[in-house]
Amino acid sequence: MIKIYSSQNPMIIHHLKNLLELEGVHAIIRNENLSAALGGIPATECWVELWILDENREAEARDIIRKKVQSDESVIRWSWRCPHCGEEIEGQFTDCWNCGEPKPEHKK
Ligand SMILES: [Zn+2]
Repeated sequence: MIKIYSSQNPMIIHHLKNLLELEGVHAIIRNENLSAALGGIPATECWVELWILDENREAEARDIIRKKVQSDESVIRWSWRCPHCGEEIEGQFTDCWNCGEPKPEHKK
């Protein structure tokens, strides 16, 4: 089992879970009751979490979520700056189109 996404908004998590289930990826929601018990007060400790059961489908699940989240939110939010050449890169690219430097969080 692997955590695939978390949000302060349970509705987003439910929506993403539905999307995953439609694609045949079995998902569960955790921390929902904890969040409700605190009266919906935003706190990172009680973010609602979306987990998938089959770790082999992680990449597929992340892809589904990324496409959905990107269609909902502005591309600006997901953009990143290349640490090598300083170019501003749109969020859907994992490598700098200018110099080929990978997105920092992809480097391990
Ligand atoms: Zn670059």
